[in-house]
Amino acid sequence: MAEKPKMTVPLLDLKAQYRTIKEPVQKAIDDVCESQWFVMGPKVKELEERVAEYSQCKYGIGVSSGTDALLVALMALEVGPGNAVITTPYTFFATGGVIARLGASPIFCDIDATTFNLDPVTVEAMIEKDCDVSNGSLVHRPSGDTVKAIMPVHLYGQTVDIQPFEKLARTYGIGIVEDAAQAIGSEFGDGRRAGSVGSIGCFSFFPSKNLGAFGDGGMCVTNDSELAERLQVLRLHGGKPKYYHSMIGGNFRLDALQAAVLLVKLAYLDGWTSGRQSNAHAYNDAIERAGLDKSVVRPIEQPGCRHIYNQYVIRVERRDELRQFLSDAGIGSEIYYPVPLHVQKCFAYLGYSEGDCPESEKAAAETLAVPVYPELGPEQIEYVVDTISSFYA
Ligand SMILES: *Cc1c(COP(=O)(O)O)cnc(C)c1O
Repeated sequence: MAEKPKMTVPLLDLKAQYRTIKEPVQKAIDDVCESQWFVMGPKVKELEERVAEYSQCKYGIGVSSGTDALLVALMALEVGPGNAVITTPYTFFATGGVIARLGASPIFCDIDATTFNLDPVTVEAMIEKDCDVSNGSLVHRPSGDTVKAIMPVHLYGQTVDIQPFEKLARTYGIGIVEDAAQAIGSEFGDGRRAGSVGSIGCFSFFPSKNLGAFGDGGMCVTNDSELAERLQVLRLHGGKPKYYHSMIGGNFRLDALQAAVLLVKLAYLDGWTSGRQSNAHAYNDAIERAGLDKSVVRPIEQPGCRHIYNQYVIRVERRDELRQFLSDAGIGSEIYYPVPLHVQKCFAYLGYSEGDCPESEKAAAETLAVPVYPELGPEQIEYVVDTISSFYA
């Protein structure tokens, strides 16, 4: 029989966080119960204003999830059949899924090997090789689809190299939808915040995100008043005034209970972000001190950017064996993401094959997220790094 682990370190410990905020959260939930106003309403409006301000945006539109934020953002940009959206294959499924659900085609371009984010160089090369400008539109020659937008993802909480994408968007008159589900409060090198640069930025309040609800939730942010108006209407079935529909929208509403919980938690977000950052830096130091640099590639921070470490992700040799070894030692870890989207079965019809996005495929085989949540203590970080050391010893 295996020895009992010295300690257990879960990948994420939401109970530890809840203990620190239980009182104000319970009070906020009580207030909503007393009001019996459960969908949209003043709490949702207040959260929209606060998150918009936090993200340097004029408008916030609360929605039912991060996935729905992405979906309704593309709907607001009128993405549909005959259109294409350029994105990364190395991301959560929703990023590519929403494009396909609208009848449009994802065009997958490869990532940068050091940040794991969509690489502007691969996007520029794809446009050069596969696209033409025809009647003022960017047309993807192999499919005949009109490219409507670029959807980069700020993966793990680190912003993408955005300026080249802004240039492409201006040159070709296409939109940018930022998948900022993992990146609320992240900053680009010039101090702008994730979500504020694209036509629309999309956040997720899934419980495991840095600002997590007690269920599902999400938000679109924008500085464009016309897009804000479209998003607001599309979120309520596209009716304006109510029951008069010039657009087909959906039920993408946010609950008041979620908004009330999130308003309490938002006040703690910067403190939690600092906790994640110091844990990440403690890992970096401990990995270096342990002389693990040959087997473990540490995450890098782009100069001047604010990385909020939704995940601390290392690139390692014999990843799956290490993951099992950690698990046996009581340490949680996760693979984000084991199968890049361009080789997912459901996207086979797009015609991609293994080898088309080599850096994404390599990352999918080599990366491992280890616990970095704010309440993690130094002795736990030491234990994780010691365990990694004994694996490679
Ligand atoms: C979490 C996540 C989403 C989806 O958000 P949900 O709130 O779970 O629907 C989309 N994209 C990325 C990159 C995510 O991490």
